[in-house]
Amino acid sequence: MIEIKNLEKSFGDNQVLKNITEVVKKGQVICVIGPSGSGKSTFLRCLNVLEKPSAGQIIFEGQELTNISEVELNKLRERMGMVFQSFNLFPNMDVINNVKLAPLKVKKDVEEEASQKAGQLLEQVGLADKAEQFPLSLSGGQQQRVAIARALAMDPEVMLFDEPTSALDPEMVGEVLKVMKDLAESGMTMIVVTHEMGFAKEVADQIWFMDEGYIQEKGAPDEFFANPKTSRAKEFLSKIL
Ligand code: ADP
Ligand code: MG
Repeated sequence: MIEIKNLEKSFGDNQVLKNITEVVKKGQVICVIGPSGSGKSTFLRCLNVLEKPSAGQIIFEGQELTNISEVELNKLRERMGMVFQSFNLFPNMDVINNVKLAPLKVKKDVEEEASQKAGQLLEQVGLADKAEQFPLSLSGGQQQRVAIARALAMDPEVMLFDEPTSALDPEMVGEVLKVMKDLAESGMTMIVVTHEMGFAKEVADQIWFMDEGYIQEKGAPDEFFANPKTSRAKEFLSKIL
């Protein structure tokens, strides 16, 4: 589904991503882990070209993204949902309108269809009863679940998550991870930057360990967590586990 070829990204003199070549297959769940500053967010942002790569190619469903027009790029981004650490909901709109907005405006869905779908998505994330509330009246965990529903409303083919639970109080992390786990089990292709090692172990098909702009090591979670091969991965895991 996504081919990443010799991807590089620099900000001025700071080379943040170094020659990354990887493939994401349809239905795979990849968890990207690694220390702060290693380039994880930049990597995700390059995948949907929120950051323009300095070199290399991103090929999504056969289409090269690094050389296309803004118009085409916007179309492609609709096919990749993204969820950030900060939920970025529209505070002046109730929950259901947050979820319906992009399908109505961007996809030109009709009102009735958009409402029905938004209702289903809110049910999927366990928030059917919050449709008419405003985001700031919800807990962080609930807001993040709305943000997931909003991303799903565009029928994305892949979902990118950048530390979706890092800003949450501990007691709210589980409800968001549960929604993500259900989504993974439904067959969604997902790339998840996370520090939640329990989730990574349980849900990922592959772990990609990033450090200093490289994917230093990758593997099935059982193998990676039991027997990390590189000294960097060993050191990282010894600090966090
Ligand atoms: P991570 O998500 O793993 O913590 P990031 O991708 O956010 O890492 O950052 C990797 C490096 O890239 C850091 O040194 C950061 O300062 C730098 N960086 C990220 N975004 C920008 C930007 N927009 N401009 C300049 N430097 C950036
Ligand atoms: Mg980051």
